[in-house]
This record gives sequence, C-alpha cells and structure tokens, in this order.
Amino acid sequence: ARLKSGLSKTRRILTTDIDELFLGKKIVDDDMIEDLEELLITSDMGVQTTMDIMERISGKRSRIAGAGELKRVLKEEILAYFDALPEPVPEAAAKPHVVMVVGVNGVGKTTTIGKLAAHESKKGRKVLIAAADTFRAAAIEQISIWAERAGAEIVRHKDNADPAAVAYDGIEAAISRGADTVYVDTAGRLHTKVNLMEEIKKIQRTLSKRLPDAPHEVLLVLDATTGQNALSQAKMFNEALGITGIALTKLDGTAKGGIVVSICSELNIPLKYIGVGEGVEDLQPFDPKQFVEALF
Ligand code: GDP
Repeated sequence: ARLKSGLSKTRRILTTDIDELFLGKKIVDDDMIEDLEELLITSDMGVQTTMDIMERISGKRSRIAGAGELKRVLKEEILAYFDALPEPVPEAAAKPHVVMVVGVNGVGKTTTIGKLAAHESKKGRKVLIAAADTFRAAAIEQISIWAERAGAEIVRHKDNADPAAVAYDGIEAAISRGADTVYVDTAGRLHTKVNLMEEIKKIQRTLSKRLPDAPHEVLLVLDATTGQNALSQAKMFNEALGITGIALTKLDGTAKGGIVVSICSELNIPLKYIGVGEGVEDLQPFDPKQFVEALF
C-alpha cells in the first residue's frame, strides 16, 4: 500500500496516459507508438532504454489490442531488465557485515542509514554506525540522533577529524563489541569531487586493512527527483569505488519513477532499496514484481 501510494505520481501519468492513447482506437498505430515513446521519456526511463523498449514493443504490435494488453507487455519488458541484474550481496554473510554508504549531500544518505539501522535492530541484529562524514558538524549530530532512535551504537569523533580514522575505530569497535552490521557514513560534498573520491577511497582501504573483505557492500544513495542526474552520479561513484548496491530515495516526490528502469537497464548494479516517503517503513527492499504492479 505504501509502495502504491508512494508511486502514485508516476502511476497517474503512465496509467492515465496509456489509457488515453487507446481512446477510440483498436490497434496500435504509428501515432500511438510515437506518443508512447514520448511518455516513457517523460517518465524518465532514459532515451536509450526507451528506444530499446520501443523496438521490442513494435515487434509485438499485432499482439496488443488495448491499453490493458499494452501495460502487460510493458511490464514484461521492464521486468526483463530487473531480472538481468546481478545478485545483490547477501545481507549477513560476514560478521560484522560492513556497509559503506556513499552519495552526494541531500540525497537522503543519513535518513537511509537511520532507516536501515532501525530495520536491522528490529530484527535483533546489533548495529553500529561510524560517523565518517566529519566535514559537517551537523551531519554527525543528525546521524547520532538516528542511531539513538534506532537503538544502534555510534562511533564519532570531533568534526573535521580524519574520516578514515573514524572508519577504523568504527570497525574496531564493531569487532570488539560483536556487532552484526556496521554502517559507515561518508561525506558527500560535491564541490571538491576529486578530493571527495580520494577521501572515500581512503576509507575503503582503511576498512579492508582491518578486515580483508570489508567493506562487503558499497551502497550508493541516489535521489529519484534528480532524474537522469542520478544516473551520472552513479557512473561517477561506480568508476571510483565499485558500487555493489543502490538505494533510490524520494520516489514519492516525483512523477519520473521511470528513473528506476533507467538505472536498472543502464547500470549493472543491483537496486536494493527504494524510498517512498520519510517514515522508517517507507524505505523498502526493491521488489521487481511489486514495483511494476505498482507502476501501472
Ligand atoms: P543527506 O544529506 O544525503 O544525508 O540527506 P538526508 O538524509 O538529510 O535527507 C535529506 C531530506 O530528504 C530529509 O528531509 C529526508 O527526510 C528526505 N528524504 C529522504 N528519503 C526520502 C524519501 O524516500 N522520500 C521523501 N519524501 N523524503 C526523503
């Protein structure tokens, strides 16, 4: 239900407009193909992905005899992208399971960590958060509030401390206190892109020095309302760090939910979580079938 209401803005456009495409028509004609193409691009599925889908739909034209049928075919095509994604990293393969969380400021990194920590705690897992975004004092405060709310432990230093040192202390504390999961928050200031990537790479190296396979997960948080911009951010972070999973926030705030399809078709990275609201329950594991059902 939350997923459905969260995606209502996107669904309103896709569903209503597809229904309208068929008004007074029985077969798929060229005008309709053109309108559908525009519709998919408007929903932010991306030019490449839209072209791809359109080509395959064109081949099935004779099979499509109404809006319901068209939606069914679209669902099939979109699911095929989700099915082709690699398997995500298992949640609890290692102890502690170390998740480094990255993304530019404002995408919802702090809240995502808070929500994930809350979910884990609720399952009875012991969670520790390392506040390695030391660039903003406010970030340390905010993540501490989330940690407390989630019943998670926090490792923090003063602001402007060395982020890699915080990360090291975090993993050290997690090992000695027997934590199940460690979330390492990182900085996301964008105006010094090169320095930022070097800083995060240093955190990554420091974690693996203490625990050879860590970080087990490099989770990238993206903001769905930024549309295709999110895709360029993903490429940038992936090149520098090797992203193993994506959390896409704020899908409730946009009619451009097609960005989910764009991200899944153009990046070979599992989409693990989607955010459809500000509450803890609004961060959900991404379920391809439920998602396409909620979309149309
Ligand atoms: P950070 O700078 O990346 O750490 O971003 P924050 O975690 O502080 O989040 C920025 C804002 O986005 C906050 O007001 C969050 O409540 C909001 N936010 C995060 N995720 C979602 C979501 O899925 N839906 C909505 N509507 N808001 C969200």
